[in-house]
Amino acid sequence: MKLIFEKGNINRRLDLMPECDVPVVDVDERYKRKKEIRLPNVSETEISRHYTKLSKRTFGVNNGFYPLGSCTMKYNPKINDEIAKLPGFSDVHPLQPEHTVQGCLEVYKLAEEYLCEITGMDAMDFQPAAGAHGEFTGLKLIRAYHRDRNDTKRDKIIVPDSAHGTNPASAAMAGFTVINLPSTEEGFVDVDALRKVVGEDTAGFMLTNPNTIGLFEEHILEITSIIHEAGGLNYYDGANLNAIMGIARPGDMGFDVVHLNLHKTFSTPHGGGGPGSGPVGCKMHLTQYLPTPRIAEKDGMLTFEEKNGKSIGRVKDFYGNFLVVVRALTYMMTLGSEGLKNASENAVLNANYMLHMLKDTFDIPFGKGRCMHEFVISLEKLKKEKSVSALDFAKSLLDYEIHPPTMYFPLIVHEALMVEPTETETKETLDEVIAIYKELYDKAYTDPDSMHNSPATTPVGRPDEVAAARNPILRFF
Ligand SMILES: *Cc1c(COP(=O)(O)O)cnc(C)c1O
Repeated sequence: MKLIFEKGNINRRLDLMPECDVPVVDVDERYKRKKEIRLPNVSETEISRHYTKLSKRTFGVNNGFYPLGSCTMKYNPKINDEIAKLPGFSDVHPLQPEHTVQGCLEVYKLAEEYLCEITGMDAMDFQPAAGAHGEFTGLKLIRAYHRDRNDTKRDKIIVPDSAHGTNPASAAMAGFTVINLPSTEEGFVDVDALRKVVGEDTAGFMLTNPNTIGLFEEHILEITSIIHEAGGLNYYDGANLNAIMGIARPGDMGFDVVHLNLHKTFSTPHGGGGPGSGPVGCKMHLTQYLPTPRIAEKDGMLTFEEKNGKSIGRVKDFYGNFLVVVRALTYMMTLGSEGLKNASENAVLNANYMLHMLKDTFDIPFGKGRCMHEFVISLEKLKKEKSVSALDFAKSLLDYEIHPPTMYFPLIVHEALMVEPTETETKETLDEVIAIYKELYDKAYTDPDSMHNSPATTPVGRPDEVAAARNPILRFF
């Protein structure tokens, strides 16, 4: 497909600029561009066709089944966008006087209240723009806490090997040394091994729960008290709250800090690098270190409070990705407490239904036939016997117009496919997909070669992934 710059004709320009409605400024000569700006020279018809064609080449939750494990690609109700589009939300400027944006401040305040209720935390901050950014911020809180107490030896964060990959990376970025904790054979935190590694240098412990195998940690209270007794703090990676929302709260399990991914559980379209929101919540003993400004109430008005000597400072300019928070609040208000709980119950039910229907065909190494909101298949046997890898299987799914699951993650499962159907899929869709998975499994034995070459029907077949990573062509000129 041609790029828009390769189309059209210089004599067919569509530069219908609106009348200038701001004062014309005489720009200094040295700031002016030397060459004429290169814009596409296409007609309206060409533009319309070009982008329609492009839109057909992408895949999203509105195209079909999208069980990308750990990413929670659920359907995002359109009412969230309707509300986020209201001019009072979308047309505000971050430097507007506070008295003109009281409604926006109230959105933050309400969202904070609801999310504190859902997580069992005492405060929630919306500056972090993504999950990993929330982790970084939360870890900075832990660091500030120990430093404030002159407990400067605490420089180690313990991370189980079933954690999300961002956990050890965020801990390292926040200046900690990462202690990798191997899991037990059942895929849980090894409590005895944990006891051996904690000590005076333990700053904290980061738990992804449910873990990346889709299991809820069985000894969670024991784990968090081991850390507390050693003087450390507990961090809960709640990016995937989809299995426990309205049912269990990190704050009741002994966690001091949590981050959420509003762009996953709380229903904002994501992927492709779109705006996210990774609010970080904490217990009372950490609130003084939260980023500033914080929203406060003064003389019946909501206001941004800048002053706080112990704050870790800003982690993002202005106030985070506001419209994602609007969507999350809309989602919570439309579902209500019962609805949110139902969403979690159905996410777990759907994952268990698929798992149950597939477990006699596929090898599912962890969980003993049960899971939370996702489960992990291993294609190790298929790879050994027929040289059909998880990659081949995933690529073959594309020809059925469904999105592959997450591949090769978590690392503790070989030839892994991590499936997260989410609560917004119907039983009919799940049954269709289950049949396709089984059909492909049979095909791997009867016609493995065809799977090495799939997909056959997509615009791009098998890109050279190494070349794409090493020699990326990121711009046209
Ligand atoms: C997605 C995810 C993250 C990272 O979130 P980003 O918004 O991609 O930075 C962290 N932890 C878990 C468990 C996740 O699923």
